[in-house]
Amino acid sequence: MDELSLFNYVALTALAIFFAGVLIITFVVILCTMCKEADERLERRAAAPSPPPPPLQLDVVLPYFPYAGRGDGSASEAAACAICLGSLRQGQLCSEVPACRHALHKDCLGMWAKTKGSCPLCRAKIGVQGSDGVV
Ligand SMILES: [Zn+2]
Ligand SMILES: [Zn+2]
Repeated sequence: MDELSLFNYVALTALAIFFAGVLIITFVVILCTMCKEADERLERRAAAPSPPPPPLQLDVVLPYFPYAGRGDGSASEAAACAICLGSLRQGQLCSEVPACRHALHKDCLGMWAKTKGSCPLCRAKIGVQGSDGVV
């Protein structure tokens, strides 16, 4: 009798451990599946089409300097900015188109170069890397 009850006890314990194990494994598998699904959802969200690239914006950094006349003796002759049609006065910050050396207001040319990419006067290309417009 005692042996039988001991056997029953061991069998029940083993069964309990077995079911506990199965339960834990099932739980882990379900958890893993959920994790994987969540990961895949996250990945899908990350791989979602990124916002379209911004419109053509040339990252042009032009050298600028305070305007000091033509420098060839005709400094008295006021030059005009072809973009805002204002005159270029001495000391105003100006930029040159490196390719053609046309001088314009720094801000005017900066805005212009970002959208147009060429000199407003002669359509020379602005912002060609490598041609460091040393003033
Ligand atoms: Zn201007
Ligand atoms: Zn030009």
